[in-house]
Amino acid sequence: MKNRAFLSQVDSTISKPNLKDHARAVFILHDQLNLDAWPGWIREEKPLLIFMESAEKGKELPHHKKKAIYILSSMRHFALECAESGFPVHYHSTKQHFNDGLTSILSKNKDLHLTYMTPSEWDSRERLQSVHATFSDRVEEIPNNFFLADPEEYKDRVKDGWLMEYFYREMRRKTGYLMNGDQPEGGEWNYDEQNREKLPKDHPVPEIAETLPDAVTEEVIEMVETWYGDGFGKSDDFSYAVTRRQVLYRLNEFIEVRLYDFGPYEDAMAQGRYKLFHSQLSMYLNNGLILPKEVCDKAEQAYKQGKARLNSVEGFIRQIIGWREYVRVYYEAMMPEVREANHFGFTNKLPEMYWKGETKMNCMSECLKPVIEEGYSHHIPRLMVLSNFSNLTETDPRELNRWFHLAYVDAYEWVVLPNVLGMSTFADGGVLASKPYVSSGNYINKMSDYCKHCEYKISKKTGENACPFNYLYWNFIDKQRDTFTQNGRSNFMVNMFDKKSDEDKKEIMESSDKIIKSLGRM
Ligand SMILES: Cc1cc2nc3c(=O)[nH]c(=O)nc-3n(C[C@H](O)[C@H](O)[C@H](O)COP(=O)(O)OP(=O)(O)OC[C@H]3O[C@@H](n4cnc5c(N)ncnc54)[C@H](O)[C@@H]3O)c2cc1C
Ligand code: SF4
Repeated sequence: MKNRAFLSQVDSTISKPNLKDHARAVFILHDQLNLDAWPGWIREEKPLLIFMESAEKGKELPHHKKKAIYILSSMRHFALECAESGFPVHYHSTKQHFNDGLTSILSKNKDLHLTYMTPSEWDSRERLQSVHATFSDRVEEIPNNFFLADPEEYKDRVKDGWLMEYFYREMRRKTGYLMNGDQPEGGEWNYDEQNREKLPKDHPVPEIAETLPDAVTEEVIEMVETWYGDGFGKSDDFSYAVTRRQVLYRLNEFIEVRLYDFGPYEDAMAQGRYKLFHSQLSMYLNNGLILPKEVCDKAEQAYKQGKARLNSVEGFIRQIIGWREYVRVYYEAMMPEVREANHFGFTNKLPEMYWKGETKMNCMSECLKPVIEEGYSHHIPRLMVLSNFSNLTETDPRELNRWFHLAYVDAYEWVVLPNVLGMSTFADGGVLASKPYVSSGNYINKMSDYCKHCEYKISKKTGENACPFNYLYWNFIDKQRDTFTQNGRSNFMVNMFDKKSDEDKKEIMESSDKIIKSLGRM
């Protein structure tokens, strides 16, 4: 592999440090790319910074090609920026895992002391802790500072089923966002009632800026195609931001142009328009190019300046200081046992359509397309279409979790696992969610225009051409009735099923059996 654009910049910008000249180094992982989240002494003393590209890490899952490109290109750009601002930088590529790379560096450089930050992901943490254990007198671990909440403070309560809503209120009080003293701005903690609108026909939806790949990114694209050709998805037309400056431009654009309508259309889906008013900032938050505080500060400021409405700003801030922080606490509280969670005991592999995107179901096809092409979709396609169908077709939630992890550019285990095994599949048996998120086609029809373009009939309940979500939903309610009857909020669905005629019940069962058994799976 040639790697000329990056390496020639490394030659000119990075002064190829001799590791023996350095007494102190800091190891920066691919998802810790922001020196503002690191202790002040690093910015002042400018110690040696070590970055590592590990082929073994890359091979753990056949990640989306755009995800591999994003991660590598943003790390390379960040390393170059650090070098430009005066840091000695050691950019290391290894065929092994990064703990092997670090072990080799520390073994060869016996005077070198290394600092690293606790990784967000469990396996990376274990790997670095093994380095720590081997070189305990020369290696220091410092706490992860890329989040707003300290998991130790909330872990026990979250494990006992403490709801996100109460965590969120505590975070509002703690951060002061949208607070008037002890009271929430506008008198309510949440304005979801105003945030469940379908997108009106012809409502204008602004485009999101695209970033043209520079020579460094082009080189990574070539490398990913060569080495990760079997990765999921497509590498064509890569247009994500890869530097903090580019990301700040996108943040401003979101605040100025889309935040105003974020709230009302937060749950909406529309044919051919998959971003709508969402920020598409998760991938940048998750590798540190921007920090949660600066995103929330900007959103609150837009409200105070009258540029965005309260229901939009509150809804947006809740996603970040509420959901995002909460799932991270959940991960800390529930790992590692939760990896094997499978409350309903499903064993089916994932339907083939998740890999290929080919299906006559228009909603599935519309929601899979942006994942295959871009590694992105917003929350509702993930929850109410892709996870919903996986649940209703009795798919092993761990298979779905694996797919989400490799298919989305913003996926890291700490965030994908709670969302899949906790929220969207109820695999943890109800620690995170109070009920399984399943629905018939009515929800999809209410929140989108997909059904108008579908070969299946949303109005038909069973048989040929009936919307599969319709019968699969009732089949699920019937088969999983124990879970639903234990939950006061969804017990009535079982009662509704029981009131159906025997003939209807039989047709529901037959149609469901047929699709569950006939789906191609891989
Ligand atoms: C099954 C499933 C899997 C998911 N997997 C991931 C994942 O791998 N990585 C990921 O970052 N998010 C994940 N989410 C949460 C959410 O769907 C994405 O954060 C969001 O869609 C990203 O798009 P956006 O930046 O346009 O978000 P916006 O709608 O603009 O929301 C703003 C920000 O809030 C945060 N956020 C919102 N909801 C959540 C949530 N439930 N958990 C964590 N952060 C949240 C994100 O940082 C997001 O950028 C998942 C949700 C579900 C239901
Ligand atoms: S009819 Fe059913 S399968 Fe078709 S788009 Fe609507 S919900 Fe999806």
